Amino acid sequence: MNNKSKYTLAILLALSIATGCSKGEVAPSGSPTATATPPVSLGSPTPSSSPSPSPVTTPKPSIVPTASPSTSAVPPKSGAIQVVAKPESITVLVNKQNSLPSSYEPTDLVYPDIPFIFAEKNEKRKMRKAAASAIEKLFAGAEKDGIRLSGVSAYRSYATQKALFQRYVLKDGEEKAKLYSAVPGTSEHETGLAIDVTGSDGKCAAEDCFAGTKEAKWLETHVAEYGFIIRYPKGKTTITGYQYEPWHIRYVGIEVAKEMVDKSLTMEEYYKAVPVTK
Ligand SMILES: [Zn+2]
Repeated sequence: MNNKSKYTLAILLALSIATGCSKGEVAPSGSPTATATPPVSLGSPTPSSSPSPSPVTTPKPSIVPTASPSTSAVPPKSGAIQVVAKPESITVLVNKQNSLPSSYEPTDLVYPDIPFIFAEKNEKRKMRKAAASAIEKLFAGAEKDGIRLSGVSAYRSYATQKALFQRYVLKDGEEKAKLYSAVPGTSEHETGLAIDVTGSDGKCAAEDCFAGTKEAKWLETHVAEYGFIIRYPKGKTTITGYQYEPWHIRYVGIEVAKEMVDKSLTMEEYYKAVPVTK
């Protein structure tokens, strides 16, 4: 590992101290690797309608426009965040460099019939229809294996994320706020395809102590069967930009999920979205 890699790693590790889910996901923009990030093809086929795109060996040549017309004509010098072209895609990549449009709101949000650790019926329970149906099956499958799960937090609107972020900016200033809270548009919870889950006792909800529990182990082994992935796996912090979050699962469809798990790929690697430093 050269000095630049070490520096990059140190920065990323420092930036990922705060857990993403509890505070809206960390979204720093100063990573030295960010400037080299190429535009990502987000037009991948949906898993249900076509065979696997196998982008690992044959990256798709099509390149989406780097930004929507609403973004600045002059891109920021470093840590550029580009707006994704197909926010409604089930396999959309949303991370620190790829943001949902500020106007995006999923049109098919529903309330999955699963227990949550809180009683209120609010937006945090919502998921997009396909993900909601899949999470119901996942919870039922877990229960058959004697594993009782609860939802912690699913959908979060752009407006909610914005309010959250602005509150932190007022408190700590923008630069500091970015270290522990996501810039609006860059939280995966805004897709309606991600959910944080925990054991039914509600302990360790979106906390490090969830790692190693029987619930976490069950998720690790079985999520792909239901079309989900552990989005921020162990040992991939320099690639995803997030520390290990065994509780944060993301729906991508069964076919893509299984391929990613079989090949031990994060979404970033699957799309070759960031230079992978090994
Ligand atoms: Zn999360």
